[in-house]
Amino acid sequence: MSEIGDGVDPQDAGRTAELAQRLSAVRRRILDAAAQREEDRSHGGELPSLVVVTKFFPAQDVLRLRELGVRAVGENRDQEAGPKAAEVTAVLAEREPPVSPPVWHFVGQLQSNKAKHVVRYAAWVHSVDRTSLVTALGRAVRNHREAVAAGDAEPGPCATEDLTCLLQVDLDPAATPESSRGGAHPDAVPELARAVAETEGLRLGGVMAVAPRDTDPREAFDRLWGISQELLLEHPEARAVSAGMSGDLEAAVAAGATHVRIGSDVLGPRPAVR
Ligand SMILES: *Cc1c(COP(=O)(O)O)cnc(C)c1O
Repeated sequence: MSEIGDGVDPQDAGRTAELAQRLSAVRRRILDAAAQREEDRSHGGELPSLVVVTKFFPAQDVLRLRELGVRAVGENRDQEAGPKAAEVTAVLAEREPPVSPPVWHFVGQLQSNKAKHVVRYAAWVHSVDRTSLVTALGRAVRNHREAVAAGDAEPGPCATEDLTCLLQVDLDPAATPESSRGGAHPDAVPELARAVAETEGLRLGGVMAVAPRDTDPREAFDRLWGISQELLLEHPEARAVSAGMSGDLEAAVAAGATHVRIGSDVLGPRPAVR
């Protein structure tokens, strides 16, 4: 019936049905929120892209989501994402005709020494927050391309396309190292943006943030919008605004998000602590 359905355990059609139902509810929320956007936040009517964050859930669920039309998935830990991406890619490549794998978005905090792993599968990194990471990602992309050219590595997406980098911004003005949900200080954005733009192998895509705890997400995402508008003056191609998770999708879309990152409302609850 479906092009990739035979990669999915027939015992568990119930899981596919559950994902389909949750996914359609989330898509409905995106449509409704987008329909209510103010003109200046509506991106000419273009809908926000859905990135389904599949952390904690197995490759089988990614295959089910791909079957349900999901094109972009997000992960936040390389140890988990690397093997999962490899498994999904291998299963889809065996389809006749082969099915293109999803686009992998890396959304979690990233150590520079993991950059060389992430560029093997990710096309986007949403969490670029310091110049040392920019340097590491650029070097990793160029090394990956050399390895592919030498026949020593399977080509990932950035073998042919520059790695899209979003600058993660800390929207909590009172953040301490303990409370911070990650990201660079807003004042650091121009310098980081220039670093990405000047690095071979990288493409500056825009900005990303996680709303601070215990604050109005709309207010936080409005600040992100302001940061995006300033960035666009110098980098007119960097239009992405990655904001919004399961709990604050509507606020993010209203504030002009181009990408929402939704985990639990599509996949179901996951353990609270990892
Ligand atoms: C887990 C995660 C999400 C998705 O969160 P949900 O609340 O499950 O929708 C989005 N962004 C980042 C950076 C994440 O780590």
